[in-house]
Amino acid sequence: MDNVRFRVAIVGCGIGGLALAATISQFTTEGKSQDGIIQVDLYESKSEVSVIGAGVGIWKRSWQVLQGLGFEEDLGKRGVKVPVDGESRGPIFRKSDQPTPGYDFHDHVMPYGPLGLHRPTLLEILQSKLSKDCTIHTSKALVNYTVHAGSNNATVTLHFADNTTAEADILIGADGVYSATRQTMFNGLSKETGNDEYARYARAEYSGTLAYRGPVPTDKFKEKYPGHMAANRPKAWCGKSQHVITHPVGPYIGVIVYKYCSDLSSSPTLTRYQNQTVVPSSRDEVLALCEGWEPELREVLGSIDSDPSKVSCWVIHTVNPLPFCVLGKVALIGDAAHAMQPHQGVGGGQAIEDAHLLGRLLAHPKAALATTSKPSTLPAILKLYEALRLPAAQKAARASYDNGLMYEFNYPGFIFGGESSGTSVTEPDASSRGPTPEELKLLGERIGESFAWLKEGDVEGDWRKAEVELEKL
Ligand SMILES: Cc1cc2nc3c(=O)[nH]c(=O)nc-3n(C[C@H](O)[C@H](O)[C@H](O)COP(=O)(O)OP(=O)(O)OC[C@H]3O[C@@H](n4cnc5c(N)ncnc54)[C@H](O)[C@@H]3O)c2cc1C
Repeated sequence: MDNVRFRVAIVGCGIGGLALAATISQFTTEGKSQDGIIQVDLYESKSEVSVIGAGVGIWKRSWQVLQGLGFEEDLGKRGVKVPVDGESRGPIFRKSDQPTPGYDFHDHVMPYGPLGLHRPTLLEILQSKLSKDCTIHTSKALVNYTVHAGSNNATVTLHFADNTTAEADILIGADGVYSATRQTMFNGLSKETGNDEYARYARAEYSGTLAYRGPVPTDKFKEKYPGHMAANRPKAWCGKSQHVITHPVGPYIGVIVYKYCSDLSSSPTLTRYQNQTVVPSSRDEVLALCEGWEPELREVLGSIDSDPSKVSCWVIHTVNPLPFCVLGKVALIGDAAHAMQPHQGVGGGQAIEDAHLLGRLLAHPKAALATTSKPSTLPAILKLYEALRLPAAQKAARASYDNGLMYEFNYPGFIFGGESSGTSVTEPDASSRGPTPEELKLLGERIGESFAWLKEGDVEGDWRKAEVELEKL
């Protein structure tokens, strides 16, 4: 291709990879003729760009990015309501780990939105935003990469499972929690330096959380249980070391049972399906998890679709907080860099914010210097991305982890129904006293505060700060 400024390889066509390509497309339109194009090649291991069709919550800052990409119009055409500025009602938190009716302890008011977006819709719209300089290559599973020092500049070679290779000037690993890019980066360092510590960063770590998901058909449920509290508002049904989120979304009430499970071998589902990350489950299995919980919750769980193919268990893995996510001309974004617990619903939003900032930095005319006078510009730009985004995403990961502890009565200062030391969690202990309503009221206030950061700052403000730093390079 003539007039190429530089070549970017993105591994993974999930939320992060597509948002990055869309941002580069958006911001390279101006100045194209004088600086040349950025050639973007996206490599996806699956045979098509697809995702399991659950919803994803999009908060203020990531919504601003999507707005900039023109999502408001696209969603409007699909009849999807977009978030409005200002407070909105979130889930009602409830104590539920008791055989008699539980009680509400916190009516959550959220600082903004969020927008509940169907994942396939999000990917489809992002994909529609790619310019003709972006090419998607499917059935291309990255195995590893190698970096070659050239006469003028280093290039990166990607090695795929089908024994083919591809070359690029920079490689962005957007390949999720089990990232082959991250494994190559940190296992390589471990081997080179003899420091085993790096291997901890290469692997995805089991988080101790299982997430059982299944839909409840709304109409049938309302007919059987008229006026049921789960049909109209999202609910968080909390208890010791386990909680359930129910969320009415049109024809279905989405149900996720989060269960703390320290030892995977103690879970019958998981011993049947070793080493898989999403495994089949069933309504009966989900009901059994909430044996002894309040009747209203069991009514919801007992109404989960009886088709077992619609019920699954996700083995949640996370990434240990990385010391860096950029090495030379290779960078990690999204879950590849900071996969987190899902308890604040912000992992996808962090991937979008990474993509936005990195995309704008790469599209900036300053980055074009890499092809002419200053080859060191690209690694320096990647490092700038890392400095601005990694700490912020790791803070979000910590908040998500803390929220899980709060919802399951394991947060320091709010440990009920079993002992705990530090921030480690424990199995429920029936002999232990549960929380009082006053204690739960305080816990509810703490939960409310934990969402406050989601209304702070704005991505445009972050970009202006980044631009100041970029000018100094
Ligand atoms: C139960 C649950 C609920 C959640 N709820 C929310 C929510 O409400 N809001 C929110 O913001 N986030 C939520 N998240 C988190 C969110 O799903 C992730 O943070 C987000 O999907 C990360 O996007 P990503 O693009 O980094 O990775 P992914 O979405 O995992 O995409 C990675 C892509 O890379 C591809 N890939 C993987 N390996 C390779 C390879 N070797 N070669 C080529 N391609 C490869 C994959 O096929 C995939 O397409 C939730 C997560 C869970 C588990």
